[in-house]
Amino acid sequence: MKTKSAAEYTKLSGGSVQRQFKKCGNPNCKCARGELHGPYYYHFVRVGGKLIRRYLKASEVEQTRQACRLRRSEQKEQCSCNHPIK
Ligand SMILES: [Zn+2]
Repeated sequence: MKTKSAAEYTKLSGGSVQRQFKKCGNPNCKCARGELHGPYYYHFVRVGGKLIRRYLKASEVEQTRQACRLRRSEQKEQCSCNHPIK
């Protein structure tokens, strides 16, 4: 099965890139003292009514962000109420 690339996903449904920090749960780890692991980047995208979270590799982050931005500006242009959105 062919997996879709970040760009293909974004083209389909837009979505957004979010940065998260995590605790691993090990009480002896630095994260237990507030130094969380990360950042991890995820692409949140709605596909067929479901919110899908995809982990992004570092190399995909910038590309996906740009694709999301592009997609958002396309959606603005398609807005039916036709007033400028800023
Ligand atoms: Zn940890």
